[in-house]
Amino acid sequence: MSGIYLHIPFCRQACSYCDFYFVTRTGYRDQFVKRLIEEVESYQDTKYTEEPVRSIYFGGGTPSLLNAGALDRIMRALRKTFLLETEEITLEMNPDDVSRAYLGDLLDVGITRSSMGVQSFKPELLEFMNRAHNREEALACLELLKSTGFHTFTADLIYGNPGQSLQGLQEDLETLISFDPPHVSAYSLTVEPKTKLGRQVELGRIQPPEDEVVSDHYDLVVERLAEAGIPQYEVSNYSKPGHEAVHNSSYWRHENYLGLGPAAHSFWWDEDGAVRWSNKSDLKAYLGEEMSAMRQQKEQLTKLQLAEERLMLGLRTREGILKKELVNRYNYSLNERQQDYIDQKVDEGKFMAGNDRLRLSVEGRKIADSILLDIITMH
Ligand code: SF4
Repeated sequence: MSGIYLHIPFCRQACSYCDFYFVTRTGYRDQFVKRLIEEVESYQDTKYTEEPVRSIYFGGGTPSLLNAGALDRIMRALRKTFLLETEEITLEMNPDDVSRAYLGDLLDVGITRSSMGVQSFKPELLEFMNRAHNREEALACLELLKSTGFHTFTADLIYGNPGQSLQGLQEDLETLISFDPPHVSAYSLTVEPKTKLGRQVELGRIQPPEDEVVSDHYDLVVERLAEAGIPQYEVSNYSKPGHEAVHNSSYWRHENYLGLGPAAHSFWWDEDGAVRWSNKSDLKAYLGEEMSAMRQQKEQLTKLQLAEERLMLGLRTREGILKKELVNRYNYSLNERQQDYIDQKVDEGKFMAGNDRLRLSVEGRKIADSILLDIITMH
């Protein structure tokens, strides 16, 4: 089973922290949709269409800047080209685009899961992030999502903002929890160099919070959402049982996926390991170039690279990773040093005990990246 990711590269305005690929000129939307459909159809009768598709994800950018008619045309092309056996079709949306009629149209088009970029309910934080929506729009959108009949939905929050207090974060969490969301993604703010935020930090105009403050924020998110029945299942993801994200989980399990649209990445297993490639991050090139020129150089990944990546992705999740899978799929066995290190981490409460599965505790997941680094450098 595989996944399909579609990158919709339009946004109303640039959020201060964002380094995804997007443009704020939305006039190219019709041309883009036509080209995206051509890209979908370019996979007709290739090996990529032999596997049934388990999940589709419209990400961006802001997919909710496309109207239902455009989404319907894209879905038709996908149905015609691929064998769809989807368990989940997600569309990212921003609160300022959503109305009851639009949500109803999305259901008709076949979207089963909406992902809403709330980030915060605090007006001053929304302004700091330069989000296009306000608190009232976020509240109204959540209200609509609850009543429109989506099987599941998720909302994004950002913590660890400069000046954000624990109390403020707690209020954001309480507001979100009051809508009983089946799934939440919560990320700590990261300062990326080429963003407005990155430049301000570089100039010393904004001071990012201390690591301990961010760590306290993380603890609060984990604890409060767990209390509300939405436990963590990946470092940044929380869900009620049965509402875990199908599409993102397939990335973490290294399943095949195709990325369509500018800047989208693809990943596909082959006999030597797997290949990863991406489309150019350039809308003009996407609209004007030959499909093959627009696809950037492929990177061949060896079994060892894949094993290390799988360990990283798996350790960030609650389910962890089976040692048997590392051996069978990646030819990767833990050596004695690695096993001793893991035993020591079990004693420290960072790893869960158990012989067949490598699994971090909630405490361990907080420092998953540094534990992974220790493990792979011992190989
Ligand atoms: S709406 Fe999303 S993709 Fe667009 S600029 Fe903001 S964070 Fe980035």
